[in-house]
Amino acid sequence: MNCPKCGKEMKAGYLFSSKDGAFSFAAAVPGPFENAKNTAGFVKITALKVGGRTSVPACCCDGCAIVVLSYGKEAKEV
Ligand SMILES: [Zn+2]
Repeated sequence: MNCPKCGKEMKAGYLFSSKDGAFSFAAAVPGPFENAKNTAGFVKITALKVGGRTSVPACCCDGCAIVVLSYGKEAKEV
């Protein structure tokens, strides 16, 4: 895919995490004792992955320092 900022071809790969946790998106980052799912605009990006690295397909533009990711099947399974 092409970068939404500069329009050049982006590097394809995966955005991945440390060996615990999962990615989500929301209007604000919830506090450590809040239920993240109650945050305004909550979108689950990945499921928790026990014993492995959470990852999601993504494209990266080094020049603009932008990562574009897509989510779908895995996030909706759990
Ligand atoms: Zn770019």
